Amino acid sequence: MGKLDGRVVLVTGAARGQGEQEARLFRAEGAEVVLADVLDEQGEALAEEIGALYLSLDVGDEEQWRAAVGAAKRAYGHLDGLVNNAGILRFNSLVDTPLDEFMQVLRVNQVGCFLGIKTVGPELEDGGTIVNTASYTGLTGMAGVGTYAATKHAVLGLTRVAALELAPRGIRVNAMCPGAIDTAMSNPSLLDPDADQEGTAKALDGLYRKLVPLGRIGRPEEVARLALFLTSEDSSYVTGQPFVIDGGWLAGVSVI
Ligand code: NAD
Repeated sequence: MGKLDGRVVLVTGAARGQGEQEARLFRAEGAEVVLADVLDEQGEALAEEIGALYLSLDVGDEEQWRAAVGAAKRAYGHLDGLVNNAGILRFNSLVDTPLDEFMQVLRVNQVGCFLGIKTVGPELEDGGTIVNTASYTGLTGMAGVGTYAATKHAVLGLTRVAALELAPRGIRVNAMCPGAIDTAMSNPSLLDPDADQEGTAKALDGLYRKLVPLGRIGRPEEVARLALFLTSEDSSYVTGQPFVIDGGWLAGVSVI
């Protein structure tokens, strides 16, 4: 028996990183999985490997959301879960951030999450689930990623309001707040074939050893297990909450 037997779950940004691991785990737990991303080649290959459906979806585009929900329901007959996982990060101080860059990040991280709730919410079966991917920076500040942090704070607001509005149908809405997770987002050198992978890994290792109480970066598989908890019956009385998964980073600072 899988924890998601008989359920159909759509995961955005599922071609790689945390979304990929969520798609793999959900499939292994018996769900039919709809993978959505803008990285079509990678997404299609993964879907074929795990026996899922891939749909090209830019989460900032309402028409594409409607088409994706229609295609998912035509393929599997119903929809029980959504993981709003797609996201982008830009490094800049707030005073140096061009408006275009601010709007680009907002469009994917915040509008994408809003459109997911708006489009998928009414189509979910009663008792369905929505998991929004916020961030550690949805709960605290971090210099150099102000635009990103603003959108992730907004994701928590959307989560709480959606949880209240969808509760009468038994639909639960929660958010994950990951700290540093080992994907291309936290380490863009993974995407650069010419980068010094070993040197970068060593430098990041030293950084996280100092910053994170558990002394290491998180793995996308660990976030996928939290997403599974929030998507399955194991969390049947949990809604409207942010769940921090950060190796203790947000717990405070140490002076010893
Ligand atoms: P990632 O860059 O590997 O994955 C992001 C995915 O989103 C990619 O597959 C990308 O193609 C997709 N995407 C980007 N723009 C899109 C769009 N317009 N429409 C559809 N898909 C789009 O990074 P990740 O770490 O796997 O990120 C997953 C989520 O976790 C993001 O929301 C991110 O903000 C959040 N997060 C990441 C970290 C971290 O340290 N890696 C920490 C906290 C939160």
